[in-house]
Amino acid sequence: MTWQTARRVRDFKPTIFAEMSDLSAKHGAVNLGQGFPDFPGPAFVKDAAKRAIDRDLNQYAHPHGVPELRQAIAADWTDRFGLAIDADRHVTVTSGATEAIFDSILAMIDPGDEVIAFEPVYDSYPASVQMAGATLRAVRLQPPDWTFAIESLKAAVNARTRVVLLNTPHNPTGKVFTPSELQAIADLAIEHDLVVVTDEVYDRILYEGALHVPIATLPGMWERTLTINSTGKTFSLTGWKIGYAVGPDHLVTALRSVHQFITFATSTPFQIAMAEGMAEARRNSYYGTLLAEYTERRDVLTAILERAGFPVAPVRGSYFLMASFENFGFATDVDFCRFLITEIGVTPIPPSALYLDPASAPKLARFCFAKKVSTLIEAGNRLDRSGVAVANAAG
Ligand code: PMP
Ligand code: GLN
Repeated sequence: MTWQTARRVRDFKPTIFAEMSDLSAKHGAVNLGQGFPDFPGPAFVKDAAKRAIDRDLNQYAHPHGVPELRQAIAADWTDRFGLAIDADRHVTVTSGATEAIFDSILAMIDPGDEVIAFEPVYDSYPASVQMAGATLRAVRLQPPDWTFAIESLKAAVNARTRVVLLNTPHNPTGKVFTPSELQAIADLAIEHDLVVVTDEVYDRILYEGALHVPIATLPGMWERTLTINSTGKTFSLTGWKIGYAVGPDHLVTALRSVHQFITFATSTPFQIAMAEGMAEARRNSYYGTLLAEYTERRDVLTAILERAGFPVAPVRGSYFLMASFENFGFATDVDFCRFLITEIGVTPIPPSALYLDPASAPKLARFCFAKKVSTLIEAGNRLDRSGVAVANAAG
């Protein structure tokens, strides 16, 4: 018998990140595709997890998150943004930012509603919107500096629009939305009574003094914003899947009612370890070292790609960069990425997977530099050895 699956998932394929990681492994390529560090997370966080497991803190956590972690998140907001957050009412821990995004959409959106997001758009956003029976409208960010026309944002709003889904620092472009862009989004949200769901998972990974301003801190925005984060990025422990959402009572209560029936609660010992890790990172030099190391990795990979003939667009935040393959004449980014993986042994991601109309994507490939410098250098050696091959293949 052929089972009829739900329409909402019928056109879903494995994600581009899983697909490229599988292809990379098959060809023994250096994986600069999927966004995860190939270096260890900090010992002070890993040791805290081992201690929590040995203290037998291994049963269900409170569905809102263990109190210690919610308090550490609240303290972080007070330190950084001067906002007094209530750990009990304003913070919910989720199984990664991915879950928090899905929870937010299901909590705010009815079938037939519309969501606005900036394109290229992280793959889980359109999927979450589709599963909610709603429609995503994309506002396009234009390379090389990834600006957008305020008019196109205004034009995307209609009577069915409920949510603006923001991501800053932005994956895959490395854009950090400027204060005036954030203000324009805030003005629009207030004018049309929209909720802003903002994915700020790379908020600690910023370059050259780029400033992270949570849109929730702009006047009139706290009460209409859910801010999503993921400790996996900041602490280089993506596999632990500890994310969280911060916002006002009424929005967080709605998110919690979804969360309790999707995962109910998130892994206890890893939450306790992240609570200890965040408390420790406020005292030690962890965040500064993180930035210095990411700046070096970004510069190393930029130099390697430019030497190989792939100009790199400026990166203000995140651990991704976009490089142009225009000089080589491949027809699409998928052709280029497949060639690089199978023939050269270096794996990028084709950003067309992050466009509603993949054929409209610019001739860029995304490379992740959350990698050891030695990994980046190995990718560079492979590109150097193959310079002629790249040129000829594209011929
Ligand atoms: N949002 C963005 C923009 C991301 O880049 C990622 C992960 N790469 C996520 C969400 C998902 O985070 P998590 O692993 O915590 O679910
Ligand atoms: N968000 C990561 C990226 O952009 C991947 C996470 C995933 O595979 N879901 O590469």
